[in-house]
Amino acid sequence: MIRKFLRQVFGLKPPSAAPASRPPDGVRVIPRSRHGIARGQIHACALKVTSGLQQAGYAAFVVGGAARDLLLGLDPKDFDVATSATPEEVRALFRRSRIIGRRFRLVHVMCGMETVEVSTFRGDMSPDADGETVAGVHADEHGRLLRDNTFGSQEEDARRRDFTVNALFFDPEREEIRDYLNGYEDLQAKRLRIIGDPARRYREDPVRMLRAVRLAAKLGLQIDPDTAAPIGDLAPLLRNVPPSRLFDEMLKLLLSGHALACVVELRTRGLHHGLLPMLDVLLEQPLGERFITLALRNTDERVRQDKPVSPGFLFAALLWHEVLATWNRRQAAGEKTIPALHQAMEDVLSIQNKQLAIPHRYDAVMKEIWAMQPRFAGRSGRRPFRLLEHPRFRAAYDFMLLRCESGELETELGTWWDTFQHANPGAREAMLLKDETPKKRSRSRRRRKSGPEGAAHHATDMAK
Ligand code: ATP
Ligand code: MG
Repeated sequence: MIRKFLRQVFGLKPPSAAPASRPPDGVRVIPRSRHGIARGQIHACALKVTSGLQQAGYAAFVVGGAARDLLLGLDPKDFDVATSATPEEVRALFRRSRIIGRRFRLVHVMCGMETVEVSTFRGDMSPDADGETVAGVHADEHGRLLRDNTFGSQEEDARRRDFTVNALFFDPEREEIRDYLNGYEDLQAKRLRIIGDPARRYREDPVRMLRAVRLAAKLGLQIDPDTAAPIGDLAPLLRNVPPSRLFDEMLKLLLSGHALACVVELRTRGLHHGLLPMLDVLLEQPLGERFITLALRNTDERVRQDKPVSPGFLFAALLWHEVLATWNRRQAAGEKTIPALHQAMEDVLSIQNKQLAIPHRYDAVMKEIWAMQPRFAGRSGRRPFRLLEHPRFRAAYDFMLLRCESGELETELGTWWDTFQHANPGAREAMLLKDETPKKRSRSRRRRKSGPEGAAHHATDMAK
């Protein structure tokens, strides 16, 4: 603590001079013969970065998710490197690199299309048990850390991480793992354990509660009972987290390939309030629950098959039953169908934007998918042909199928559209329904302007 304080006050360098090869006391060193990870499993760019740093005399390791995933036999999403070199020292070693970040200063090193994130070992900046913060650290009144960019030793860097399984350091040169916190054992036992006092670590950063749920579902780990215990009580702290950070974490969760398991787990642990505030209500309505379950299951399948997933589509699905309920309420109060739908979309999005801060770039897609839904009812005249040509037809159609599958619409409607889009022109003409309510010319022209097509054009305009 005093050493750290002096370092901060006098701007002393972190202990970067320590040779990379000599492990400090108290660390468990696991050889390749036990852990089984070979240098060749590390992406070329990460290898280039660790060896460049080590040759320059710094310590450098592959850390976090990559070391963990390799041990689990999974393909890591990205390779992060932790080093004793400061961001400036890293920057000076690699021509194609830049320093990023305000809260944490990191270096991105680029090789071809790949980017490796390099972070300097950071210290444990938690407030002391009596609530006093270490110099340079700022926490809000709930204990949430607002700034923690002070350097530290490798062991301190391990301790400031969230879970023991995320605090393993792999040295590609020696093919050794350094483990300060029994993360290796936890991983073998399929146990997710937070580092340090659970309640204190969640207070510092409430997002760790969401990470616990996501990582447990994604990696097939059990959350350790002590790690899980305070979550229910501390869930309200998520309200103090900046909405954009919540959104990023939610997106990771929804695109993890285990979204359904995560959402169920969030709900069990009482973490869904304030994230998707309607989720609890929705999941209690049989249709809403079925719709969301189907949407998440679909998304999970796509992610696992490496198919692209559109976050806009997913958020449109998650919020659909809220839109539907608001739409129905407005119609019951006497508003016209299409204006009521548009108003319902605005209502739902404005509430949701405040809570989860879904970036506005997704609004256009969501609105378009929603606004196109009434158009699937039009199966006569030129209307189905026009809908087929819409650039967003595929997404809107997939969405409509979910509505059929969940029991909100007749299955027959989905089957009709499936056949119609794959039929040849003659067969399509034969499939058209008779216009049930023939209108006088002048009225039908008026209807076209404000009817479903008009609504969708409106949505397209908004999307521009
Ligand atoms: P993923 O597979 O989703 O990338 P990850 O564990 O690599 O999982 P990242 O967000 O990439 O997650 O974080 C990299 C590492 O940084 C983590 O493994 C962990 O050691 C540390 N970390 C991330 N978020 C936190 C946090 N909120 N508190 C403490 N440490 C964190
Ligand atoms: Mg990662």
